Amino acid sequence: MSHIAFIGLGNMGGPMAQNLLKAGYTLSVFDLSPAALQAAADLGATVAMSAMDAVRHADIVISMLPASRHVEALYLGEAGLLPHIPQGALVIDCSTIAAQTAKTVSQAAAARGLVMLDAPVSGGTAGAAAATLTFIVGGEDAGLERARPVLSKMGKNIFHAGPSGAGQTAKICNNMLLGIQMIGTAEALALGVANGLDPHVLSDIMSKSSGRNWALELYNPYPDVMENVPASRGYRGGFGVDLMLKDLGLATEAALSGQASIPLGEMARNLYGLHSKAGAGGLDFSSILQLLQKAKG
Ligand code: NAD
Repeated sequence: MSHIAFIGLGNMGGPMAQNLLKAGYTLSVFDLSPAALQAAADLGATVAMSAMDAVRHADIVISMLPASRHVEALYLGEAGLLPHIPQGALVIDCSTIAAQTAKTVSQAAAARGLVMLDAPVSGGTAGAAAATLTFIVGGEDAGLERARPVLSKMGKNIFHAGPSGAGQTAKICNNMLLGIQMIGTAEALALGVANGLDPHVLSDIMSKSSGRNWALELYNPYPDVMENVPASRGYRGGFGVDLMLKDLGLATEAALSGQASIPLGEMARNLYGLHSKAGAGGLDFSSILQLLQKAKG
């Protein structure tokens, strides 16, 4: 069975690595957070002293980092990982980053004889824990076929979006829609509550009506309407406001490069930006409800 190096054990990477361990893979892991490393060690992973140390004997390298700059810094440059990854190893970056960065890093990997895929995910932390993620892959067919057995231990759906970078483009389209949908859902719930409705009752009604959507039904932003979602634990964990802000920034960049119009995506970016500036950057993105509640007095 392949030996895997896993780099980035945060809200998503931690449970993804756990599912690979459960499936019987051996893992060398690295993260900047000692607590994340300890949690992975407790589950049977080998903790590496550095990312370089983690990839030394890897057949497959998986990274799950916050943003483009982290992925560039990890793989490229003088201290980058690419020269240290064994020849023939497959590299899979699951972070959500700019399509252009994914293409640049994958070209640099190819120049060293390595196949690299962009494989961002959808499904949130619950999907990561339950191994039901959707993988949205960009890169060569042959690389995807090699990745498939490993990805299937962490997810349920695997889509091939197209060549290198296409996975990131598709992911950004999805996340822009999610960001907009969450604001609309929070706005409707805040409106109902401001006019005397019970958020449980309103959620039930809209879930069986034409306003139904993923944010409402599986990730309800109103506290205590749904168990096991960030809104019911003080908006802790989940998908951070600053990560959503990053993704909407990537959508803006994609709109500029493709000369597309994204008026609602831009408005969503501004609202999450205001929310972040007010100190909520580390909270789950469903906390946008708080901004709307305040705005409505
Ligand atoms: P996170 O901030 O919880 O985790 C990122 C981890 O990377 C942290 O543990 C951090 O210490 C580590 N890290 C940063 N730089 C590092 C480096 N140089 N070497 C080793 N470790 C490093 O983020 P997350 O929520 O796990 O998200 C990761 C990626 O997945 C992001 O691109 C995000 O947009 C995407 N994503 C998140 C969700 C979600 O619901 N949280 C869903 C889909 C996609």
